Amino acid sequence: MSNKALTKAELKTEVIQRVDEQRQKLVELSLNIHDNPEPGFKEEKASAWLTDYLFKNGFHIEKGIGSLPTAFKAAYGSNKPVIALLAEYDALPELGHACGHNIIATSSTGAAVASKLIVDSFGGTVVVLGTPAEELFGGKIFMLDRGAFEGIDAAMIVHPGLKDTSTTQALACIGIDIQFFGKAVHAAAYPEQGINALEAMILAFNAVNSLRQHIQDRSRIHGIITYGGESANIVPPYCAASFLVRAQDTGYLDELKQKVLKCFEGAALATGARFEYKWADVVYEPMKNNLTMARLFAQNLETLGRKVEPFQSYFAFGSTDVGNISQVIPAIHPSIAIVSTDVLLHSKEFVPAAISELGHKGMLDAAKALAMTVADLLSDPKTLKEVKDEFSGSLD
Ligand SMILES: [Zn+2]
Ligand SMILES: [Zn+2]
Repeated sequence: MSNKALTKAELKTEVIQRVDEQRQKLVELSLNIHDNPEPGFKEEKASAWLTDYLFKNGFHIEKGIGSLPTAFKAAYGSNKPVIALLAEYDALPELGHACGHNIIATSSTGAAVASKLIVDSFGGTVVVLGTPAEELFGGKIFMLDRGAFEGIDAAMIVHPGLKDTSTTQALACIGIDIQFFGKAVHAAAYPEQGINALEAMILAFNAVNSLRQHIQDRSRIHGIITYGGESANIVPPYCAASFLVRAQDTGYLDELKQKVLKCFEGAALATGARFEYKWADVVYEPMKNNLTMARLFAQNLETLGRKVEPFQSYFAFGSTDVGNISQVIPAIHPSIAIVSTDVLLHSKEFVPAAISELGHKGMLDAAKALAMTVADLLSDPKTLKEVKDEFSGSLD
């Protein structure tokens, strides 16, 4: 405990300073993660660098939590309540850090180190949960199922992007792998005896395109052909594709799944190709934004000179495994602007943006606003109660 109790305002001024003091180290971590892009579940270096830094700063480290080798839990403090800052550090195949997860990892880490002061002053625990493989594999969903989020009272994570927001609108999402099986014959000599698996797939894509105009707004269906044939003189006997199906809620996602399957069944019937499919094991759930926490985060970010978009006014997000966390624990997933023009997530232009001066500034501002929100949550039990009441529905 500090000698003299700090007021919440003094505490916030102090945590801002503690983030600034870490600037050089956080930027170095961010650059290293960015220079060594590691895809989901292979983030050995990022996980090691982050845990080393947190260990040196007095955090208790547990590696490989939820049976995921690159996941970790770094805790400072030993009693309730427990506030988790989530760190993502996976890169995209081919593109590298086009989603800027180097900024997510370092903003949560910097915020946690700055938050030690809050824990020393008011008690509670601050935790960094290292959550691998956000892109495509839903690492947090495995961690949640395996108990890694037990005991956590609230969770926060900031994603770099085009706007400053305190809420995000993430869609429910599931993947499906499709295979058509046909019959190979010489494409010119005996076409009448072949069964064309590629044509079946093309028909299915067109059926999905037709379906798309009659589905709910903000639903998304999109896919790629992963195998289309070997040689133009052979009727393609095999074709494979991978699709993602997204909707605003899991109820409509279930309906949409049935409609999408009909597109493939119809194509199989029309061409005589046999079809097999497999839905992904994980379903990304939509984001349930905790507006009490979002409001606090927005106020804190605005004191740093940023203008935060009104709640839910900005729709430009895919899906995130934070959605699943937000359904069981009060959570926020704000966005921090790091680009001045419309440089889009998952584009090659976003890769340099994630280590630009604006990128570093975004990372530091996110760390500050996160730590200030930790101050709000730990310094006054009434605030966390309000967060929990909203979550459980006792507030309207
Ligand atoms: Zn992404
Ligand atoms: Zn991302």
